[in-house]
Amino acid sequence: MNFYVLTLFPDMVMDGLKTSITGRAIEAGLLHIEAINIRDFTNDKHGHVDDYPYGGGAGMVMQAEPVYRAYQYVCEKIGRKPVVIYMTPQGRTFHQKIAGELAKLDDIILLCGHYEGIDERVLDMIVDDYMSIGDFVLTGGELPAMAIIDAVSRLVPGVLNNDDSAEIETFHDNLLEYPQYTRPANFMGMEVPEVLLSGHHKNIEAWRLEQSIMRTKERRPDMYEEYVKAHADTKRKKK
Ligand code: SAM
Repeated sequence: MNFYVLTLFPDMVMDGLKTSITGRAIEAGLLHIEAINIRDFTNDKHGHVDDYPYGGGAGMVMQAEPVYRAYQYVCEKIGRKPVVIYMTPQGRTFHQKIAGELAKLDDIILLCGHYEGIDERVLDMIVDDYMSIGDFVLTGGELPAMAIIDAVSRLVPGVLNNDDSAEIETFHDNLLEYPQYTRPANFMGMEVPEVLLSGHHKNIEAWRLEQSIMRTKERRPDMYEEYVKAHADTKRKKK
């Protein structure tokens, strides 16, 4: 899968993503992640990519031209027009289901704004989707783009050592994951739940499901409601 990040801070993006699991996936050729410096596409002799907002007001706005040319560079390089997602607090909130949909694509361009954002005209021209990572305002789109790349990448076959670990975890079936434990069995007097040491897989599965349901009900009542609704529907259909 190929990610192209249009950014003013390519090192920030690449330094973050070339480590750990995404880094290994890049080396293995499962992911191609390329950060394209929008500044390389300005005609301004001082390298400026921003200007004052028309109509006045605080801050600076990224100009349309360098963004458009950076986008064209990617399209020409790969010979097609990929989906373009603009990182913005004004977008729909990213979640696990969207990650799953994006993981089916071959190429994605993630466009990162800075300052007060980007001239609306180029957004109208090139952007397919507007995506936020939550209701707060960051200084730039790089961290959101990295978060999205990370979440999508781990759903690309082969990126995780064990593909099951992406299947049965938090958000699967509207449930949070059950609590996890590892060695030692006793940590500062606290024992690992006995059932996990029993080797009895059916009991372990039942305990984990029960824990997931309890945890979801307590921590994410909104998700729990969805879980109950979905299972009531399934039961009704079976009848
Ligand atoms: N003036 C803009 C507004 O009020 O909508 C906010 C601009 S913000 C300071 C600069 C850039 O950071 C945005 O263009 C966007 O790319 C990115 N950004 C900030 N918060 C974000 C969020 N929650 N999700 C995604 N991108 C975000």
